[in-house]
Amino acid sequence: MENGDVPEDANEHCPGTLSESAGKADACEGCPNQQACATAPKGPDPDLVAIAERMATVKHKILVLSGKGGVGKSTFSAQLSFALAALDFQVGLLDIDICGPSIPKMLGLEGQDIHQSNLGWSPVYVESNLGVMSIGFMLPNPDEAVIWRGPRKNGLIKQFLKDVYWGELDVLVVDAPPGTSDEHISIVQCLQATGLDGAIIVTTPQQVSLIDVRKEVSFCKKVGVPVLGVVENMSGLAQPLSDFRFAKITETGEQNDVTEWALQYMRDKAPELLNLIALSEVFDSSGGGAAKMCREMGVPFLGKVPLDPQLCRAAEEGRSCFVDQRCTASAPALKSIIEKLLQNQGLSQMAKENGA
Ligand code: ADP
Repeated sequence: MENGDVPEDANEHCPGTLSESAGKADACEGCPNQQACATAPKGPDPDLVAIAERMATVKHKILVLSGKGGVGKSTFSAQLSFALAALDFQVGLLDIDICGPSIPKMLGLEGQDIHQSNLGWSPVYVESNLGVMSIGFMLPNPDEAVIWRGPRKNGLIKQFLKDVYWGELDVLVVDAPPGTSDEHISIVQCLQATGLDGAIIVTTPQQVSLIDVRKEVSFCKKVGVPVLGVVENMSGLAQPLSDFRFAKITETGEQNDVTEWALQYMRDKAPELLNLIALSEVFDSSGGGAAKMCREMGVPFLGKVPLDPQLCRAAEEGRSCFVDQRCTASAPALKSIIEKLLQNQGLSQMAKENGA
């Protein structure tokens, strides 16, 4: 990858546009780019040099990846950023999920604009120590699909890394799109030279999701990105019994809401039941879930986060799940995962110095 980009229409086994053998290797015979590659000046990609300069003020860079969409990657990125900011770290959250940027909403920043100063693009700040940058801030119409080919997406990612003025950051969390496509190769290529700590991979427990996560782990291994750990999200439903709705199905198959009756019945007959958290396996984890996959692939397992309607609400409303007691089922799980991550990354000492 140090040999530069591989054009979309390149021959198989392209040595890369910056390689000394670009345009001259056997693999270049007949390639439409052969002439251009053979004559282009070689040397370090000037964008990578600019990115390295920009990232020099960022101590830790963490990628958040997933094999599939909808598994909670952005939710995790958002809550990780809130948690790190609450520990007094200086945090940046960069959303490069170009086709589905949900970070502005999850941080409560919908409709905000990016401002430009002579130092570069300014992130949008949730708090003075939590800045956010997303393609979502640049789209004139959030309902409009972004239909961009790889090179244009890669261009934007490079621009994000090159032109955003983060200032001094303890941690930059990068929310990547799902899969292992062009954008991933581009971001890894850009960040690796500047010292990328590694990637956290988010999955759900069922096999169809884990199959894709295995690909994600293998992608990380191939491109030399350390896997900091895997998070199993939506790992069963967990919520206080008192938050459930109850129904009776009639003989004709109709659903009658009997929530009031059921809650009153419990209050009268067994009030202690109302303090219980009800658990339900939603997705099949009989295959051993993410923990087993991690053992097999030799990567750390960080823990499980249950499906918690209150966490979904916090994400919809752009709130941290840690500030009030509403996310009783998910916030402790997320907290313990983040603590484990901090310990593994040697960040816990820094958190203590911050007084957390
Ligand atoms: P991805 O980034 O992987 O596409 P999102 O983070 O956007 O996934 O999550 C998809 C939806 O699921 C969002 O509405 C989010 O709030 C919700 N969600 C994610 N994790 C949980 C969870 N543990 N409990 C409840 N809802 C969740």
